Amino acid sequence: MFVMDLNIPRKLRLLTTPKIKSLLHRKYNKRCAYCGEEITLKEMTVDHIHPASLGGSNDPENLNPCCYVCNGFKKDLSIGEFRDEIEEQLSKTITKQWFNLLYKFDLINVGDGNIPVVFYFEKISRNK
Ligand SMILES: [Zn+2]
Repeated sequence: MFVMDLNIPRKLRLLTTPKIKSLLHRKYNKRCAYCGEEITLKEMTVDHIHPASLGGSNDPENLNPCCYVCNGFKKDLSIGEFRDEIEEQLSKTITKQWFNLLYKFDLINVGDGNIPVVFYFEKISRNK
């Protein structure tokens, strides 16, 4: 039986087979590629590393497992823009939503805002 997964944007539903989803889920040890939070296959959203709106492909190499919160903030940003956006928030008065995201990145106790934002997939590749 085919079960529609509402966590995946409509246009991706047809392209993301259960096999690809399972592969993506294991890409970073069942964790969000950005904040590193452990996510279940059901919770996982699919992020385009290079945004689909800017011509990014639906190839698995361009897809990252992503938690709901990170995906909501990354939206159509590139990885560089997402990082800039997070760093920019550190120097501002933040909303509760941004506080939650920064807390997930372990940045909320940072005093001067000069600590670089390191995504989970980057930490993982450094340790290899
Ligand atoms: Zn995340």
